[in-house]
Amino acid sequence: MTRDSSSGYQAARKREDAQVSRVLTWLSLTAIMFLVGFGSKAWYSDHSSHALILWAFILPVLANMAWFAQTGNRVVQKGGLLVVISILFTYLIASGGEGNTGPLWFYVFPPLLFFLTNLKTGTMILLLVYLVAVVVFQFPNLPFVLAEYDSDFKIRFFASLIFESIFCFVLEASRLKARNELLDLALTHEHAAKTDELTGLSNRRDIVNRLSEEFSRYQRSGHHFSIALIDLDLFKNVNDQYGHNAGDAALKQFSHLVQTVIRQTDVAARWGGEEFLLLLPDTSLIPALTLAERLRSEVALNNFSFNRQDLPITMSAGICSIAQANSIDDMLRQADLQLYSAKEAGRNRIAPRVRSQNTDTRSEPSA
Ligand code: GH3
Ligand code: MG
Ligand code: MG
Repeated sequence: MTRDSSSGYQAARKREDAQVSRVLTWLSLTAIMFLVGFGSKAWYSDHSSHALILWAFILPVLANMAWFAQTGNRVVQKGGLLVVISILFTYLIASGGEGNTGPLWFYVFPPLLFFLTNLKTGTMILLLVYLVAVVVFQFPNLPFVLAEYDSDFKIRFFASLIFESIFCFVLEASRLKARNELLDLALTHEHAAKTDELTGLSNRRDIVNRLSEEFSRYQRSGHHFSIALIDLDLFKNVNDQYGHNAGDAALKQFSHLVQTVIRQTDVAARWGGEEFLLLLPDTSLIPALTLAERLRSEVALNNFSFNRQDLPITMSAGICSIAQANSIDDMLRQADLQLYSAKEAGRNRIAPRVRSQNTDTRSEPSA
């Protein structure tokens, strides 16, 4: 499982996106307050056209917020705000704002860009921002450039902006590295908490969770499912005769074989010791018996071996479908009873025993 495909990673990404959206909403509200405030100040200082332009920027910020509230589209929310802010800051550097303080707002760009986009996109947009500043500084005669800055200011402005950009880049890169390491660690723990160490199958805790999820699905939408409780026959004898390591090897080989027989949607788990549990979603009793019988037959035919010694491995299983039970506990209890009767009937077999003209399900081993 890669980081990108893990459910934990997807959930973390969703949480991050939601957090960015919340910050953007607050940022938009703050921007509106600033625009109202600085606009009013300009208005009372008799810079009425500057005031009107600042107030005019409130409209696209509001429109962006309203659009996001309606659609929930985070990409448009980010992109829209970035475009509005870029145009506003370009206006401020080109007009000088009040008392040539307009360029100061460019210091907002580096942290904002790395927060809203990734390192690569942020750097690309930052280069564009530098370009805008260079054009305004170098070509004061362009029609839209109203401000003139002295060369000491320009040099210090660029030096400090570049310094800030590098600092923000390094901070964001190390934040991302730490976050990815943390996610990898969480992923490893998540995997370990759900997996049986010896066989690599789901462990008991994981299958119990999946069973209750499947039961909820059944209650919600009536999707049937079945379980198969499997026990390896006379496994104590295998250990006693060939050693514990041989027993372990047989458990691993059995688990591998199970995974080749079940469907992708089925889940195989080590229930404990030499017992295994299969969860078969969207499967009623007869198909579950058919699958269990196929597995039994494959196990009986398979060559289990350890240190070039053949190991006599067979399995018995008890099957129960949700149609025959009214809870997960009841299902497990009934499957256990069926397993017991399969053992009683001589092992290497599946219970309940079904004979039907429509199926080829056999519960007894072929001779
Ligand atoms: P039955 O057909 O009635 O199930 O007989 P059995 O011998 O399989 O049943 P029993 O419960 O008496 O023995 C189970 C054996 O499984 C005993 C135990 O040592 C062995 N076992 C359980 N877990 C492991 C394991 O992780 N590795 C090995 N090698 N053996 C294990
Ligand atoms: Mg057992
Ligand atoms: Mg056993």
